[in-house]
Amino acid sequence: MKITIGHLYPDLLNLYGDRGNIQCLMKRCEWRGIEAKTIAYELDDKIDFSDLDIVLLGGGSDREQMLVCEKLQEIQPEFKEYVENDGVVIAICGGYQLLGKYYKTDAGTMQGLDLVDLYTVQGEGRLIDNIVLKTELFDMPIVGFENHGGRTEIGNNRPLGKVLYGSGNDGKSGYEGVIYRNVIGTYLHGPLLPKNPCLADELILRALRRRYGQDVTLSELPDEEERAANEYVYRRFVKNDQG
Ligand code: GLN
Repeated sequence: MKITIGHLYPDLLNLYGDRGNIQCLMKRCEWRGIEAKTIAYELDDKIDFSDLDIVLLGGGSDREQMLVCEKLQEIQPEFKEYVENDGVVIAICGGYQLLGKYYKTDAGTMQGLDLVDLYTVQGEGRLIDNIVLKTELFDMPIVGFENHGGRTEIGNNRPLGKVLYGSGNDGKSGYEGVIYRNVIGTYLHGPLLPKNPCLADELILRALRRRYGQDVTLSELPDEEERAANEYVYRRFVKNDQG
């Protein structure tokens, strides 16, 4: 089996070590004998979505998002077809905001990809802290770090998780991120996937099943260190044994 990851515009959208997400996906495939390759696209490159199994759209500052958003309008029809065809997408922070209809900031409104029915409006102050979620996708909590000025409204869409500690989508709904078909959007940096191996495997499994059928399963990896790190963060911010 083989997986191809498309990394969209890493020169512009690459905050908080988002590239670590790519390394994590590649390694977890390699360790299982799944051939993995990453194609990093620059703004002028042509993207053939039929080559891709996972698309990663990383975080960026408002200025960088503005530069990318025009380009995104050009690739929107092909990107939308990929999503509706159950293509796997992981979109982080600035990339998550750009999945939606628009991102309104004090400096103007950026048009988004309109791949998921959501929108973002810049609020007062930034939401910056560690964050812990409970997802319905697997038992392990999702941990990370958030730093965003935008508040995202996901309407009736399914969230990625319930906030156990931190702010999440808008600091008040109690939810974080979004899941739509095989698209996952989230504010979590850190990078996200090395801290959350279950989420990395969820993406890999969805991508493999889309290409090779529902019978595909993933072999277990010895994730003791990842689990211990995750557990440490969970205990530090959510479950304080000392009461
Ligand atoms: N520029 C966006 C915001 O501040 C996203 C930031 C990010 O990707 N960390 O809301």
